Amino acid sequence: MSKTEIGVERLGEPLRATSQALAVVLFGSPGSGKGTQAKLLVQALGIPQISTGDMLREHIRKGNAVGTAVEAKLKAGILVKDDVVNELVERRLAQPDAERGFILDGYPRTLAQAETLCQLVAARGFNELVIHLVVDYNVIIARLTGRRQCPVCGTLYNVSSKPPRVPGVCDLEGAKLIVREDDREEVIRERLDAYEKQTRPLLDYFRAKGKQIYDVDASHDSPERVFRKIEALIREQ
Ligand code: ADP
Repeated sequence: MSKTEIGVERLGEPLRATSQALAVVLFGSPGSGKGTQAKLLVQALGIPQISTGDMLREHIRKGNAVGTAVEAKLKAGILVKDDVVNELVERRLAQPDAERGFILDGYPRTLAQAETLCQLVAARGFNELVIHLVVDYNVIIARLTGRRQCPVCGTLYNVSSKPPRVPGVCDLEGAKLIVREDDREEVIRERLDAYEKQTRPLLDYFRAKGKQIYDVDASHDSPERVFRKIEALIREQ
């Protein structure tokens, strides 16, 4: 299997020469590709992806107390309360697989979350790296409004950039594709609004704290090309 086939550097030199644990923060608007990049980084670095969105959806799926408390917020595209999310992250980071590092996707999203993370990372002596995926507004809108999902297997498609073989039908299951509840137009507007008002300002907070922020242009390149850029940044650490 060649490196290009697996899409990430696994067979050559290790991605990182030093053993210092790495806290990678993938930062960017909804639709900027954080989840996709997180998955590629998991393969390359062997450290876990921690996606607060996925964790919250899992609680909703299980129908437990946390899930019931947050369900309406996710449906409306509004941020969940900081103490709920901070506790989920704190517990997750205490698990053994996060000892050597982790990749945060969708966290922190508010000042209170950024402060919590700052303390957690400082207490562990991790090297923190903020990767800011920069994507044009129009591209974001096209990605979010074009997203379709298979209700059976969860595979994601996009009507323009990753269409199924038969329009509106899952390649794998043959099921009719759906628009996820939080991909409806009015909810997309809420999610982007929450990003602009509550999350984007964290870039200033990170700068004021002296953290390195790496802007990575992720508007038009393929996910693999974006990943190569991130990989090069990590090698420099
Ligand atoms: P996206 O980045 O595309 O909006 P996510 O899966 O990261 O998708 O988030 C989906 C929803 O989950 C958000 O709209 C919000 O309601 C909730 N959520 C996820 N992460 C957080 C967080 N760190 N703080 C508050 N709410 C969150």
